[in-house]
Amino acid sequence: MNETKCDIAVIRGDGIGVDVTDAALAVIEAARGRTGGFRLDCDDLDAGAGYFKETGKDIAPGAEDACDTADAILLGAIGLPDVRHADGTEISPHLRLRDRFGLYAGVRPVKAYANAPQRLADPRAAGIDLIILRESTEGLFYTAAATGREIVQTDQEVQDILRITRRTSEKLFDFAFKLAEKRKARGKKGMVTCVDKANVFRSMAFFRKVFDERKTAFPDVPVSYNYVDAQALDLIRRPWDFDVLVMENMFGDILSDLAGGLVGGMGMASCAEVGDAHALFQPAHGSAPDIMGQDKANPLAAILSGALMLDYLSDRTGGHTGLADAAQVIENAVEKGFAENRLRPMEFGGDMGTKAVTRELIDLIGGA
Ligand code: ATP
Repeated sequence: MNETKCDIAVIRGDGIGVDVTDAALAVIEAARGRTGGFRLDCDDLDAGAGYFKETGKDIAPGAEDACDTADAILLGAIGLPDVRHADGTEISPHLRLRDRFGLYAGVRPVKAYANAPQRLADPRAAGIDLIILRESTEGLFYTAAATGREIVQTDQEVQDILRITRRTSEKLFDFAFKLAEKRKARGKKGMVTCVDKANVFRSMAFFRKVFDERKTAFPDVPVSYNYVDAQALDLIRRPWDFDVLVMENMFGDILSDLAGGLVGGMGMASCAEVGDAHALFQPAHGSAPDIMGQDKANPLAAILSGALMLDYLSDRTGGHTGLADAAQVIENAVEKGFAENRLRPMEFGGDMGTKAVTRELIDLIGGA
């Protein structure tokens, strides 16, 4: 049988990033064992705070170029509290990758699992299943996201810029509508909410105008609008009513943490950052120095990010079924594992560390 081969740039990084990436790769391999049809060639690349401490560089020579030519980048976590650049800033080569490769679409799934923590008493909270789609290269992070972007900064006044461009917004909205279509095909709501502050900011009115223009190309996708303050309220009052929520960078930064908090902890927060020709997959959490080296980390955020990567690779390679099926196999196993109380991460007061969760998931995938 013909196998599709994908090149993966793997950056384990620091702290628990190493363990959760190993877990993700092991689970992907188990899923591949079920579906076949593809092979991942992994290129292990050094980067992060530990590497910086040893070498004075935040990423190995040639590693950025290796990311450039790979089909996808799989990243663990980067950063250690006592390791900083001379100016006090954090070691963050992954932000440079985001900028260099134009990874504008930040996909943050938020899904409730049975027996995982739910912060809302309403039983409908069991049905939370939404995506925060965060534009990730401009918005209010524009001047913070890369060096060399001039801002007013004197001792009397400092300004940041909220930048919305037609080019990026069109791509972002097309991504949102296609994502909604895909989710609809998988039995989900398949609708898009434009989250903005179009009643106050010209930049946000422009954001909504471009949204309205692009939605005409997707007439079958239902849309709605919400101001960001009302959306914060609605994420507490009725999060089960939403599907794909698309917004600018800073709003997405804040609301993805809020929404993630509704369904568990950082150990469930998966993330994809997608551009025109590149994509990076990583758990939304950091290196968690307080628990590193103790086999306590919940690997599911990294594992679910791995499933997002397989789904992306499926699209990238022309819809090869093995890859999309393997992503589905992983998602189903996580769902079943929680429903049958076979996944009990320590993060939620359970008895299972990183290795035990990974082993159980591999058993679930294998049908044990
Ligand atoms: P960063 O700024 O890099 O995001 P941070 O210190 O703000 O880092 P994390 O490293 O994500 O944030 O850790 C925040 C808290 O969440 C810590 O108490 C950490 O132990 C916990 N945490 C993060 N990831 C996990 C995980 N996968 N499993 C269990 N606990 C986790």
